[in-house]
Amino acid sequence: LGTSHFSTAADPSSIKLNPPRVPNLIGGSFVDSKAATFIDVINPATQEVVSQVPLTTDDEFKSAVSSAKKAFSSWRNTPITTRQRVMLKFQELIRRDMDKLARNVTTEQGKTLKDAQGDVFRGLEVVEHACGMATLQMGEYVSNVSHGIDTFSIREPLGVCAGICPFNFPAMIPLWMFPVAVTCGNTFILKPSEKDPGCSLLLAELALEAGLPEGVLNIVHGTHDIVNAICDDDDIRAVSFVGSNVAGMHIYSRASAKGKRVQSNMGAKNHAIVMPDANVDATLNALIAAGFGAAGQRCMALSTVVFVGGSQSWENKLIERAKALKVNAGIEPDTDLGPVISKQAKERIHSLVQSGVEDGARLLLDGRNIVVPGYESGNFVGPTILSNVTATMECYKDEIFGPVLLFMEADSLEEAINIINNNKYGNGASIFTTSGVAARKFQTEIEAGQVGINVPIPVPLPFFSFTGNKASFAGDLNFYGKAGVNFFTHIKTVTQQWKDSAGDSKINMAMPTS
Ligand code: NAD
Repeated sequence: LGTSHFSTAADPSSIKLNPPRVPNLIGGSFVDSKAATFIDVINPATQEVVSQVPLTTDDEFKSAVSSAKKAFSSWRNTPITTRQRVMLKFQELIRRDMDKLARNVTTEQGKTLKDAQGDVFRGLEVVEHACGMATLQMGEYVSNVSHGIDTFSIREPLGVCAGICPFNFPAMIPLWMFPVAVTCGNTFILKPSEKDPGCSLLLAELALEAGLPEGVLNIVHGTHDIVNAICDDDDIRAVSFVGSNVAGMHIYSRASAKGKRVQSNMGAKNHAIVMPDANVDATLNALIAAGFGAAGQRCMALSTVVFVGGSQSWENKLIERAKALKVNAGIEPDTDLGPVISKQAKERIHSLVQSGVEDGARLLLDGRNIVVPGYESGNFVGPTILSNVTATMECYKDEIFGPVLLFMEADSLEEAINIINNNKYGNGASIFTTSGVAARKFQTEIEAGQVGINVPIPVPLPFFSFTGNKASFAGDLNFYGKAGVNFFTHIKTVTQQWKDSAGDSKINMAMPTS
């Protein structure tokens, strides 16, 4: 494994009485911040302070933006083949350090090591996709639009772009952002989640090792103030955001008011419809994995199951399988779900479950009082199931973002589709059925950006885009895929005339036509 220029949570020997301070990355150097305030990065399984992240100062932020601005002119003129080769090397280094990256994710975020590897791998696939940027970024050409005149379009980089990340995928989401942006020829300011910034630093270190020139990728830290500074900065052209709706809509309006492009992936309430003809075993396993995997902290986690024809026949089997899941620290082998990110998140989940009970839902499985031996102070919530949930309950209207499955019932597919379409979010929705007719009706009528047919977490690979809609997305160019390349480039059209103009002796004052 490569040796880091700084200590991170991937290196347990560094976690001593004085936790390491997470540096900024400015102009190709990892530099300690002169911040007056640092936030503790806490291992959610143990409460150990694994590092401290600065509230990057205004001067440091300005210096990061100015180094990105300075790097832009040479980076945009670097051959696309060279930029692609940096990504080719980068993907190789991510594979080399997969275990180290995953260990960091587990320590700072809490998910199981296997799930953390998946977090890194799904980001790695975006890097692999960026290796083909020359083809993805190709323009268009029409010859002879008029006599001797051709028109072509070029997709050019924007300049300095920025990314603001959530806590739940500390590897994948930074990798949704900067590899696409920089391979298009932009330079980048990354603001990782203050809850688990370590993986972004490790990835940046690998990007530098892969040959990314200094200043092309910069990292700053903090919360609201630095986010507002990103939104307001005149040198930043585009902002990529993933996180909650409160932050996402604030960033969308503040940054677009400054004339920036914004893509904002936000919260979710992902539903599955289970038809009476669904394959029982496969459906049970899919519901359990999608509902409780990553402790329900995936933006595409399943939160609500609508059983057409009633939930009765499914309930006992689901309770049985949910009870069999092992809740433990992510670092322990055979763990199925780890802790949630913070004490506050745990309390919020508890109170939403309680509100469901008070509103008349049936608590089929209660994971609130779980104690994990050896990790008694961890933020654990066991698998929890509420049935007889209705659309007016708080636990249904709010995103819970924990290992809680809600059961609803409908008499028909039509009714089930209406329930989902009336929900404000539109990230993902799935159907479990053996009927092609039901599946096709669902696919056509459902108002969700990512649709699964017998697939519980239908997150598209990077040759497509991550296509959340309704309140789950603001903007018009989605993350990665063709839309991602379009987001990080603007179109220039060139019209050129090459003809023998010896005979053009008159001035033509009319609008040119062909
Ligand atoms: P969050 O919104 O609390 O934080 C995300 C980022 O925004 C962080 O970097 C944080 O520092 C910053 N931030 C938070 N509040 C802010 C504010 N008021 N003003 C300015 N900046 C602010 O989100 P989180 O808790 O880290 O992540 C969980 C959320 O992210 C969930 O809602 C989840 O559904 C969503 N998410 C969505 C997707 C998607 O692709 N749709 C993917 C992952 C996570």
